[in-house]
Amino acid sequence: MSILVKIADLDLSDKTVLIREDYNVPMKNFEITDNTRITATLPTLKHVINAGAKLILVSHLGRPEEGKYDEIFSLAPVAKLLSSQLGFEVPLIKNWIDGIDMSNYQVVLCENVRFEKGEIDNDEELSRKMAQLCQIYVNDAFATAHRAQASTHGIAKYAAISAAGPLLISELKALTKALRKPAKPIVAIIGGAKVSTKLTIIKKLLEKIDTLILGGGIVNTFLNAASYEIGKSLYEKDLVETSKELIEQAKKNNCNILLPDDVLTGNKFEENTTAEIKSISDIDRNDIIMDVGPKTIKKLNAIIKEAKTIVWNGPLGVFEFEKFSNGTKTLAQEIAKSDAYSIAGGGDTIAAITKFNVKKDISYISTGGGAFLEFLEGKKLPAIGILEEAARAWVAMEKAREL
Ligand code: AMP
Repeated sequence: MSILVKIADLDLSDKTVLIREDYNVPMKNFEITDNTRITATLPTLKHVINAGAKLILVSHLGRPEEGKYDEIFSLAPVAKLLSSQLGFEVPLIKNWIDGIDMSNYQVVLCENVRFEKGEIDNDEELSRKMAQLCQIYVNDAFATAHRAQASTHGIAKYAAISAAGPLLISELKALTKALRKPAKPIVAIIGGAKVSTKLTIIKKLLEKIDTLILGGGIVNTFLNAASYEIGKSLYEKDLVETSKELIEQAKKNNCNILLPDDVLTGNKFEENTTAEIKSISDIDRNDIIMDVGPKTIKKLNAIIKEAKTIVWNGPLGVFEFEKFSNGTKTLAQEIAKSDAYSIAGGGDTIAAITKFNVKKDISYISTGGGAFLEFLEGKKLPAIGILEEAARAWVAMEKAREL
């Protein structure tokens, strides 16, 4: 792994430390439904406070319209949870960008960074302002590391010191280790809604793996490309030709793309629609493919059993609907049973892993969705790249000081 400044390398006493966290947690009716991301950060927060620093926390939540306050996307529930878990009040600061009054040992949470105009576009002025709030900037949000935004990238250009947080570092270490020399056969499962969001990773995987299992809405586009009727199923017409090319590329690379033999269909995209098992050659004009069928599940299980490395992103069907969750559920359980090294990542994949209670039996679960996929593609994530640059500058400065 390349060099990064770590919190442990720094003297934090009397310093103002700004940590970019990932508190983009699932919520329902203003209640946090899964607090894993928040509790994971607590040891670092305690370490920084105990070292005598002032601590500013920054995160995004959801996708609000930029530059506008919207209660739905407020981090208030996060501030409440942090306060109860840390045992002292963590105030939520609404107007923070022009400066925050604080004392040592204090922690504040800034309101959703995406309420600030210029965050998404990595605006220079906003980045400079954020950098001015602190002496040390720490990025501990792997899931946003593929985005060059003001709080993940721009700020690191202007902060006096920019460091990588422990969650980010452990994520990088685990993924690097898993991908260095993966044992073969390597099986990847790419499911989820759309090919367009996963096209690059599919292309890349075809060069590296033995079997690609496609599922979800993604497989419908490939079924259409292979001339099957897919009825009213979700698919992307403009990617049918590309899917044909990918099928050809897979053949050349000796990579087996697995398409379903049978599926579970409904006639309405809703929970209570009647589910029917259909052979893939019997799909009707009005059918909607919503999960894989039992024959396909059997075939998938056999492939998972043989695998030595498994990479998983995206559900095989509409797993939120009980009737159509069996494909994803069985897949999760088979991966959990397998002795292969298994890595999984992405919001819906983690939701499925949690729902089907297999968390402890997956070798590594990445917190990232897009960041996880881009890392697998071999791309340099912008937020990591800028921390590496900052680390090189910091090392040079420390050396100069030693002279
Ligand atoms: P993604 O974020 O791309 O991983 O997509 C996850 C979403 O894909 C989940 O909400 C699933 O319900 C949805 N999904 C999976 N299979 C299908 C399908 N056959 N048709 C429509 N949506 C699907």
